[in-house]
Amino acid sequence: MECGHRAVLVITSQVEGTSTSVARRKVDLACGLPKGHAGAHHDAQHDEDWEGAPGTRPTVLRDEDEEG
Ligand SMILES: [Zn+2]
Repeated sequence: MECGHRAVLVITSQVEGTSTSVARRKVDLACGLPKGHAGAHHDAQHDEDWEGAPGTRPTVLRDEDEEG
């Protein structure tokens, strides 16, 4: 059985010529590790780790420039 802990990944990108980052899109994450695993949750499909207590749905930020 999988952990199934959920989080929201927000892809941000910097506005050209400024130091402002804006949210471009949101992706739902789901932890695919075994239920009761230790450490951070992990979504292999999106290659993202996050920390979160059961019953919470954290937001994870990722800069678009780091993608790919
Ligand atoms: Zn998990």
